Amino acid sequence: MGKTVLITGAAGFLGSHLCDKFISEGFRVIGMDNLITGDIRNIEHLFKNKDFEFYNHDVTKFIHVPGKLDYILHFASPASPIDYLKIPIQTLKVGSLGTHNCLGLAKEKGARILIASTSEIYGDPLVHPQSEDYYGNVSTIGPRGVYDEAKRFQESLTMAYHRFHGLETRIVRIFNTYGPRMRLNDGRVIPAFIGQALRGEHLSVFGDGLQTRSFCYVDDQVEGIYRLLFSEYVEPVNIGNPDELTIKDFAEEIIKLTGTNQKIVYRELPKDDPLQRQPDITRAKEILGWEPKVSREEGMKITYNYFKNLSKEDLLKKEHKDFSKHNRK
Ligand code: NAD
Ligand code: UDP
Repeated sequence: MGKTVLITGAAGFLGSHLCDKFISEGFRVIGMDNLITGDIRNIEHLFKNKDFEFYNHDVTKFIHVPGKLDYILHFASPASPIDYLKIPIQTLKVGSLGTHNCLGLAKEKGARILIASTSEIYGDPLVHPQSEDYYGNVSTIGPRGVYDEAKRFQESLTMAYHRFHGLETRIVRIFNTYGPRMRLNDGRVIPAFIGQALRGEHLSVFGDGLQTRSFCYVDDQVEGIYRLLFSEYVEPVNIGNPDELTIKDFAEEIIKLTGTNQKIVYRELPKDDPLQRQPDITRAKEILGWEPKVSREEGMKITYNYFKNLSKEDLLKKEHKDFSKHNRK
């Protein structure tokens, strides 16, 4: 019998691509999600596959999975600044209680666990580019603290399970990743700009647009995560694309790509928005033999085509995800 992997956050952007990857590599995959920011349509195509199962479950509650588990990938968590500002307590809980439940399950099953951390643990970085030995510059009480601190706690808890219980753990620090299946209205910059271009609206650049990001295409990210899981490396590894640019230049690229006549409009910069971000991927290169392969030009074309082919209803659904039916406690 093949190996079994549990993927939390399976109906989300990265989780759904990871489900595809593990199915294609011959694993039995259990996807788990409470659909708070995800979309069941991201994994619907897998429902006919006998090696795929889906559990609709909130991982902040006790997790029960019958039978053996070889690997756990913990990806459940709101990931866009707008999402985690709207559901701050859920965000803190999934990073802390949700991670605790996943680690406990891994211990019970003797499974190896990989947790999804983030470049946000570096906060508004004072070191550039960010390498894994930088401790970060995070505001505990600022609006982004609910995400950043939950992820920092998640890393500490994971290392404690490794040191104290001898659990096999892996930590990936994911830098801005994009591609098909991002939610068009999740507020992250790529769906935001493409959605605006497709609706014929001006592109909203926050602040002066001189803040920088470095965007990694999803296939590269998934390959890096896959290699890390099967490596013997316990400490955190940055996975991202070092090709850095300003958000203003990026907006101009989107205008070119989409061929619209839209202009850039400037809006207030959200509090604690990091001024610069670029991964130092020396460790990933050395330990995993990994580096990104997909250029922004190529990745953005695929992503734009994905959004262009969404239904009119999806495109016009400008309002944010309705969180009212979910428990906000
Ligand atoms: P996403 O919002 O598309 O996916 C997250 C998924 O987790 C959603 O399907 C959501 O419904 C689910 N979820 C949230 N809380 C849950 C709970 N309590 N129980 C069960 N399921 C729950 O976001 P994404 O971009 O796919 O991010 C996935 C992971 O990767 C997150 O942990 C995020 O912090 C991390 N990450 C992503 C990026 C990126 O650029 N995409 C960058 C850094 C880190
Ligand atoms: N941004 C922007 N306009 C938007 C959405 C985002 O200028 O409509 C900026 C945001 O201020 C940040 C960058 O784009 O500097 C990336 O934002 P995103 O929300 O994608 O992720 P972050 O890297 O901040 O977590």
